Amino acid sequence: MSDAPGQFAAIAGNLAQVRRAIAEAAREAGRDAAGIGLVAVGKTHPAGAVEAACAAGQRCFGENRVQEAAAKYPGLKARWPDLELHLIGPLQTNKVRQAVELFDVIQTLDREKLARALAAELARAGRRLRLLVQVNTGEEPQKAGIAPAATDAFLRLCREELGLPVEGLMCIPPADEEPGPHFALLAKLAARNGLGTLSMGMSGDFPIAVQFGATLVRVGTAIFGERAPAPRDRESEE
Ligand SMILES: *Cc1c(COP(=O)(O)O)cnc(C)c1O
Repeated sequence: MSDAPGQFAAIAGNLAQVRRAIAEAAREAGRDAAGIGLVAVGKTHPAGAVEAACAAGQRCFGENRVQEAAAKYPGLKARWPDLELHLIGPLQTNKVRQAVELFDVIQTLDREKLARALAAELARAGRRLRLLVQVNTGEEPQKAGIAPAATDAFLRLCREELGLPVEGLMCIPPADEEPGPHFALLAKLAARNGLGTLSMGMSGDFPIAVQFGATLVRVGTAIFGERAPAPRDRESEE
């Protein structure tokens, strides 16, 4: 980083702006902003950028790759022990052990094989972590997530048969559609399954997600700036 102080200030300013926008959206929706958590998505940005956000008071972060998070966060967690790390990208079963060690919340539980691997690893490690089930609300073939119609049965498997501590649902609406109906569908699926946590909304649409009941918004670009074009996604290959 050639201009570290400037970059630190920019991230602090962006964070303040996003927090204000969340508060504003909450007020308009008649909701308490305290019920809306901000997950700052640091993917592709260096540890120094995450550090700047920590220095500005942010403690909750999201990453979409286990490998990248493993390289970035151990040092940050040593310095800020209350840092909370969320996995928001696809999880391969051969990385479950590492993910369980590293993350506090896994938002991308989306298939039986992964549910069984997580249950086994949590029992083995004697660890508890928070889980969200990802729903593919747009039923996009290339996107991770359980189909909406299969969600109730999958939740029963996770919670009743495997005893997994699922606390909510997560979705990423199709990029080329109005997000509102997807957020509404996710809220409906969560409500009828008695789940209180709704992870939905990104830089482009988090105020709309707040309208529809988001309790976690995942914001990257609006805090850390544009990302370099992502390499082809290989995390979902299994
Ligand atoms: C990258 C990412 C985000 C953040 O996206 P922005 O548009 O940069 O805010 C949120 N959720 C998931 C699952 C992501 O992969």
